[in-house]
Amino acid sequence: MPKVYNWQINREMDYPFEGHRPRRQAAAVFDTNKCIACQTCTMACKTTWTSGKGQEYMFWNNVETKPWGSYPLAWDVRVLEMLGPQAWEDGVYRGKTIFEAAPTGERALGYLPEDLDYAYPNRGEDETNVPVTEERFYLRLPHDAWFFYLPRICNHCTYPACLASCPRTAIYKRPEDGIVLLDQQRCRGYRECVKNCPFKKVFYNHTTRVSEKCVLCFPAVERGIQPRCMRNCIGKIRTFGFISTPDRARPDNPVDFLVHVRKVALPLLPQLGLEANVYYIPPVHVGNLRFLQMLFGPGVEGAIAAYRRAMEGKDEELRGVLLLAVSTDRIVHRFRVARGQVYGYDERGEEVVRVPLREPTMVRPAYDPQHRAYRYNVT
Ligand code: SF4
Ligand code: SF4
Repeated sequence: MPKVYNWQINREMDYPFEGHRPRRQAAAVFDTNKCIACQTCTMACKTTWTSGKGQEYMFWNNVETKPWGSYPLAWDVRVLEMLGPQAWEDGVYRGKTIFEAAPTGERALGYLPEDLDYAYPNRGEDETNVPVTEERFYLRLPHDAWFFYLPRICNHCTYPACLASCPRTAIYKRPEDGIVLLDQQRCRGYRECVKNCPFKKVFYNHTTRVSEKCVLCFPAVERGIQPRCMRNCIGKIRTFGFISTPDRARPDNPVDFLVHVRKVALPLLPQLGLEANVYYIPPVHVGNLRFLQMLFGPGVEGAIAAYRRAMEGKDEELRGVLLLAVSTDRIVHRFRVARGQVYGYDERGEEVVRVPLREPTMVRPAYDPQHRAYRYNVT
C-alpha cells in the first residue's frame, strides 16, 4: 500500500491510493461549548437535500449528545472497539488506523449498520454520563454529571475511507476545494462506502438503490457562500472556510488560526487516520479528560486552556475569531482584530463583516419620570 503523511497523527500511514492534496481544502470548526442542540442545522440540511423518497432516515447533519448519544446506534463505540489499542506517544499515534487494521482483502476496517441501527436518531439526548442523584447534583460543585452536544456532518476527509473502498470509483475528491462527492450515475449500491466510512456519513437509498452523502452545499461554496447548516446555526458555533497544512498555516485565516495557531480546535477521532476536516473546540466543563482525549486526541488540555484564556478576556484575537462565526453568510478568508472590532474579508480582500468584541451596554435609570413608571429591565 502507498504511504501518505497524515499531520493529525504526526506520521506516515498506509492508504490505498497515492496522496494528492487538493489545491485547497474546505473545513469547519464547531465550538461544542456553544451548541444548544436546537437541531436547526439538521433541519436546514434535511429540507434542502434529503426530503425525498428513500431519504427519510438520512441525516447528513445530525447532533448527538455525548457520551451516550449516537446515530446510527453506537457508531463510535463499534469502530473504536474493532480498532483495538489506540496509544499516543508525544503527539504521535502509535496504534493502527482503520486502513492499517483492514482485514485481508479489504481496504479499511468497517461494519455495515443494520436498518434498526437507524431507528432512533436522537437516542440518548440530554442523558448525563452518570445518573443524576440528589447528592451528586445539588450538594457538590463542580457537578460530576455532564453531557455535551456533538454536531456531525461528513468530514470531507483528506484520506476518505468511503472513496478508498468504492469498487466503482464513484466517489471522488474535488481538487479545487477538497469536497468529497459521490457520482450517482457510477454507483451500483454495493455499500462498501457505508461500511467503511467510520463516521457513518454515507447513506444507502433503498428507493433509488444508490448511496448518497453530504455535498457540503458546493453550489453555494463555489459562489463564496457558506453551506446551509453553517449559516443557519442558531448558536453561532460554526466557522467555515479553508484549512492549510500546518507548514503553510496563515495566522490571518480564521480556520488556520483556530486549528494551527491557537490549537483550540481538534479533529474528531484522529486515530482513525482519515485526516477529517471538521474540527471541534472541546467542551470545557467535562470532568473526564480521557473521554475527551479518546474523541479529540492528545491536544485536549491545551485547547481547553486556550479557550479559557479567551473567555477570561486574555486573548482578544481568539475572542474575535470566535465572534465571527455565523456573523455573515459569506465565506471569511481573512480576519483582523483592531480598535475593539473584528473584521472579516472575502477572497478578494473586501470587507464582508465587522463585529464589536464587546456589545455596547446602555443602562437606563430605573425610574422614568416622563411616564411615572419604574422600568422592569434597565439594560
Ligand atoms: S466522513 Fe465518511 S463519507 Fe465523509 S469523506 Fe470521510 S469517509 Fe467519506
Ligand atoms: S444549529 Fe448550531 S446550535 Fe443548533 S444544534 Fe446545530 S450546531 Fe448546535
